[in-house]
Amino acid sequence: MTPEGTAGRIVVVGSLNADLTIYCERLPLPGETVHGNGFAVNPGGKSANQAVAASKLGGHVSLVGAVGDDANGAMLLASTASAGVDISRVRSSSVAATGVAVISVDAHGENNIIISAGANGTLSPADITAAADAFDRAAVVCLCLEVSLETVAAAAQAGHDAGATVLLNLSPYAEIPQSLADLSDVLLVNAHEASLFLGDAEVPDADADAAAWEPVRLQFAARGLERVLVTLGAHGSVVLDSQAAAGSRITRVAPTKVNAVDTTGAGDAFTGAVAARLAAGDSLAEAASFASVAAALAATKKGTQAAYPAIEDVERRLA
Ligand code: ADP
Repeated sequence: MTPEGTAGRIVVVGSLNADLTIYCERLPLPGETVHGNGFAVNPGGKSANQAVAASKLGGHVSLVGAVGDDANGAMLLASTASAGVDISRVRSSSVAATGVAVISVDAHGENNIIISAGANGTLSPADITAAADAFDRAAVVCLCLEVSLETVAAAAQAGHDAGATVLLNLSPYAEIPQSLADLSDVLLVNAHEASLFLGDAEVPDADADAAAWEPVRLQFAARGLERVLVTLGAHGSVVLDSQAAAGSRITRVAPTKVNAVDTTGAGDAFTGAVAARLAAGDSLAEAASFASVAAALAATKKGTQAAYPAIEDVERRLA
């Protein structure tokens, strides 16, 4: 049993970015200038998105991060706070600007993204130490790779020491030391990241059945990762749980059929939803089923944080 008052608490550690998006007919070639036909500034960053998704789905979420003392920082603090996220551990940097993602999207939805880490790059193990009270009460610690690996490692260690479930979203992909893999209770990857992590290994086709994933489960387990979620876009996801009883170690989670209009940030919605449901006591497979609905609903609206569903929306779809 979790001590009184700790059930459901989630600490999300990582990035907050302002997404600066230009829409255009086609993406420019190197050296070329093209005209855009629209511009938007939206709150983003993987960790801010994951925190908002988890909070809207009923999680008690603290975000540990850094923004600059500027208008983009103020926008991000307002957006995360209005979703119910505790932002008291988001540091305002006087030396670095808020992180930005400069995004171009063409008429087919194809995009190019350049990220400037800004204040996210200043997040350090000292920020993890400063947030020790939040880690001590955490049921789930949710991490991604948009801040330095040493910060992620410090957060994973703090979560582990507190007895929390450490959920690592290996995105954007980077090689991680085995020590970080060992501290990760649940790894969350898309199919491309899964393949890269396993040394450019072949992963089954997105519509392959559960049995086809057995070699992948074994490869992850050999790397010390016994609980892995692989997202497969419109094809749903697969749960690889080497700690489950034989016969139920692989679960294919069917996609939730929706009319998708914008899948940007669907992966973050999925991750936030998994964090919320693990904190609520769900099994990995139950959390993935719930997250499948939440991420699909997020894809039915343009944008990221503003498009993320509330828990009632998911429950209505599940009913
Ligand atoms: P990422 O954006 O990180 O690569 P995915 O594309 O795998 O992640 O999407 C994450 C999850 O979002 C999927 O596992 C699925 O549950 C959901 N999802 C994404 N695209 C769609 C879609 N077109 N229809 C329904 N669900 C989707």
